[in-house]
Amino acid sequence: MSRMVTTRIAPSPTGDPHVGTAYIALFNYVWARKNGGRFIVRIEDTDRARYVEGAEKQILNMLKWLGLDYDEGPDIGGPHAPYRQSERLDLYKKYAEELVRSGWAYRAFETPEELEKIRKEKGGYDGRARNIPPEEAEARARAGEPHVIRLKVPRPGTTEVRDELRGTVVYDNAEIPDVVLLKSDGYPTYHLANVVDDHLMGVTDVIRGEEWLVSTPIHVLLYRAFGWELPKFYHMPLLRAPGGAKLSKRTGHTSVDYYREQGILPEALRNYLSLMGFSMPDGREIFTLEEMIEAFDWKRVHVGAPVFDWEKLVWMNGKYIREVLSLDELAERVKPFLEAAGLDWRSDAYLKKVLELMRPRFETLKEFPEKARYFFTDDFDYEEKAVKEIQKGAEILRELKGLLESLPDFRPATTEPAIKAFAEERGLKLRKVMQPLRAAITGRLATPGMYEMLEVLGKDTVLRRLDRALKLIEA
Ligand code: GLU
Repeated sequence: MSRMVTTRIAPSPTGDPHVGTAYIALFNYVWARKNGGRFIVRIEDTDRARYVEGAEKQILNMLKWLGLDYDEGPDIGGPHAPYRQSERLDLYKKYAEELVRSGWAYRAFETPEELEKIRKEKGGYDGRARNIPPEEAEARARAGEPHVIRLKVPRPGTTEVRDELRGTVVYDNAEIPDVVLLKSDGYPTYHLANVVDDHLMGVTDVIRGEEWLVSTPIHVLLYRAFGWELPKFYHMPLLRAPGGAKLSKRTGHTSVDYYREQGILPEALRNYLSLMGFSMPDGREIFTLEEMIEAFDWKRVHVGAPVFDWEKLVWMNGKYIREVLSLDELAERVKPFLEAAGLDWRSDAYLKKVLELMRPRFETLKEFPEKARYFFTDDFDYEEKAVKEIQKGAEILRELKGLLESLPDFRPATTEPAIKAFAEERGLKLRKVMQPLRAAITGRLATPGMYEMLEVLGKDTVLRRLDRALKLIEA
């Protein structure tokens, strides 16, 4: 009987949630959903030295933010999901002991100093504890002598590793070290805990970053040792920074929290990460998670080094802002950024009017309060160029103020013909009127269309700012 497709991510809580984890989570999620299977989160927190308080929560928040919800259920951890390896230590010990009994593992008693010496002389552990007679090893262990349990790699021999994306590689077992499975403090190593859990959790498809490819022969041997059915392995290409180096703190920003704080939308990040390993059959670049699930096929996954490029991500974010989100959604998304900037948006209706005008003019949520500040407060700075325009156009502005005061309302149907006639009567190019006006009421020279903007700002604000601008240059 075929098993239910089960995928997982197994992040270690060692720091900020990494975009690489988001990318791998995405492909695991999509494959599980495509098959009506399940997607598990397992926190691999057995490396206590690298453990970072709060990192697990950040990982879970990241998944939630991206809309990649994981499954819970009595058979996979129940209300305790996600799994935490630190809560399952007895289990790993039991399985390590089982391998000792079956002859697939052995106890090794070297002290850290001895190991260091062996490493220096032999370039790595040479398997010398294999020669300790089992009865002796058991007696020493019972007497409480500190020791580790190591995998007894069958030598001579070969190990075949099949990767669904890369094909099959046959390793000479001479290249595979007798890795430690259980440490002297009773903690499992990554290899043991990872394989035991993948098996117990019914993981059928291991989708992970290619940096784990080197560990896979060890894992395959462990499956063989336990007599367990192998999962399928898919090693996804690592994200690269522009230039080709591995994406890291040195070459770029790796924390998903950073992208969120910069005002990247979860939809855009998710969409962009999809493109790091997958393309739609019709080549479309903008697509939903559901559309990806629908179209997903491993044949459409490429293993070439994907470049994670901020510029491209921002471009995609801008597309989501302009074309994908509804105005209501967009309003909700910018609110926290307005709040953070200390700006009051008055009402949803007003905010939406501003967004309608500004939507083509910003690409990240964080840019919005910067670029749209003058819609929410008089407390904005005048760009130097704007001050010059005001100075040059001071005479025009004084006259224009009279005209604007006299208008019955500020609808474009009213202001547009009036301002045009004003320019014409004076033999002025329209620009000569617009630029100083724009500068006076917004402090800048690039803004949305004048007539729509006048309407949204309203007569009181416009006249107040005109006065202020004229005073500014007199002072
Ligand atoms: N704990 C490993 C990590 O931090 C898991 C790798 C795997 O998926 O097997 O990514």
